[in-house]
Amino acid sequence: MNKLLVVVDYQNDFVDGSLGFPKAVELHEKICEKILFYRAQGQPIVFTLDTHEPDYKKTQEGRNLPVPHCIRGTGGHELFGRVQNLSQGCEKFEKGTFGSDLLFAYLQKNTFESIELVGLVSNICVISNAVLAKTALPEAQILVDAACTSCFDPLLNEKTLDILEGLQIKVTNRRLIFSLHCRGTNGIFPSLPLSSAPPVLGSACVRSLRKDTISSGKALCAKVMSSVSLRKNVICSAKTLRVKELTFLAPRPRIALQS
Ligand SMILES: [Zn+2]
Repeated sequence: MNKLLVVVDYQNDFVDGSLGFPKAVELHEKICEKILFYRAQGQPIVFTLDTHEPDYKKTQEGRNLPVPHCIRGTGGHELFGRVQNLSQGCEKFEKGTFGSDLLFAYLQKNTFESIELVGLVSNICVISNAVLAKTALPEAQILVDAACTSCFDPLLNEKTLDILEGLQIKVTNRRLIFSLHCRGTNGIFPSLPLSSAPPVLGSACVRSLRKDTISSGKALCAKVMSSVSLRKNVICSAKTLRVKELTFLAPRPRIALQS
């Protein structure tokens, strides 16, 4: 009993329900694999469940986020997909807010070499419970698997991973993401250090690209896109885009390309 897996709020409403988003669905396989891995090692697994009552909208969270979710007794409160079955026999902690006081108490009563968190959403409940885990067991290694967590905004997710790392939480399986910020006016494109461009994940970039009719950026964009394996997602957009700035979100520093 020395390596704990905490599956945070992987509930229907956060995956494909009232607060769901496509990336949350994509995590399903990875989270199932993670649970099965811990199970095969004979390590403990616990689950947190965001749990609200029918008066949710009257609560502070409900006033700030007026989207009812995870109401006790509804389908949205249940764990998503195969995770529901895989959770059988495991300890579950219902919680009315982001962090789980019951998880904190459980951690204080136990000794773990490491505590790994997966689930949803990275920028609210995963980070909240990671901080609680760090507080409850300062000598345990706290981990967050970046391949098993996300939030609705890929860039916000990256920022959250940065904050987690700053909290001395080990973020595993982190992929590099860059975003291209485009402007709609004339400009000059300095050369890019393409040879040093890291492998990246493309989906975040598409969100931040804005269309522009100026074609001078075409070659550069095409080059950038192909060099970072974004061909599939972005290459057609790149024909009408121009780049003013390339931001490596992690772990490279920001690189300004404006001349
Ligand atoms: Zn909630």
